[in-house]
Amino acid sequence: MNTPTFEPGRLALMLNELRLPTVARLWPEFAQRSDKEGWQATRLLGALFEHELAERAKRRIERHRAESRLDPTKTLGTFDFSMVPMVSKAHVMALAAGDSWLEKGATVLVFGPPGAGKSHLGSGIGHALIDAGYRVLFMRTSEIVQKLQAARQSLQLPSALAKLERFDLIILDDLSYVRKDQAETSVLFELIAERYERRSLLITANQPFSGWNDVFPDPGMTVAAIDRLVHHSTIFEMNVESYRRRTASDKQIGRRRQLSSDNHKLGATTMAE
Ligand code: ADP
Ligand code: MG
Repeated sequence: MNTPTFEPGRLALMLNELRLPTVARLWPEFAQRSDKEGWQATRLLGALFEHELAERAKRRIERHRAESRLDPTKTLGTFDFSMVPMVSKAHVMALAAGDSWLEKGATVLVFGPPGAGKSHLGSGIGHALIDAGYRVLFMRTSEIVQKLQAARQSLQLPSALAKLERFDLIILDDLSYVRKDQAETSVLFELIAERYERRSLLITANQPFSGWNDVFPDPGMTVAAIDRLVHHSTIFEMNVESYRRRTASDKQIGRRRQLSSDNHKLGATTMAE
């Protein structure tokens, strides 16, 4: 058989054209080992392609994380569930795995006073979903409303909404901070209606539904928005005092204890002298 021989340089060019950077990087070392250890050709090819696929998946997840606008520090790993006993960790972990709720475009609603940990919990779920291969976008609700409003003014609203389609989950942070303004907040309603039963939303708000009449232009629209959001939804109510305030007072108590134990020790040594 006439076996063609390949110049390493030519191989590099071909791998570049095929966009196989990991194979291009790894093959010299793998080929050397393969020659030395007498691997079957399938083993060599399989090992190289497996690495290419793994790197590709890793790069895709990195891209998804970069586009998500999630705060990298607010993950479920850094979220202390013992601070919010009313939130079931098992339930959050099930949501964080994705699957059926994202497929049916269900909603997660997170309510609680400022500092309760709503944004952190929402971000944590977002990060976990990215790890599981989904695409997520985190935005303050007022910012997304402004963007959609600008798109509407330039007659681009349908294409702006279509661009958001690629996200399996959009996290609308602080919905109740949106100012009531007829033109602006009806785009929020359009986003909710557009995604209903197709693409998921996770919404955080200081005020539960009773306060939402201040967000949407008229009561009819408020009812229609709430109706869609609660249809397939999970609601977390985090009725706890601000995490910052609690940890600050814990630290103070800690500091006071430390101080008194230092004084005590000081007292003890002084006495021993
Ligand atoms: P909210 O969105 O409800 O106003 P945040 O999620 O912004 O509150 O939380 C306020 C701060 O406290 C953030 O820095 C957040 O990381 C931290 N935090 C809140 N709850 C927790 C928690 N259970 N575990 C760890 N950090 C928390
Ligand atoms: Mg917040």
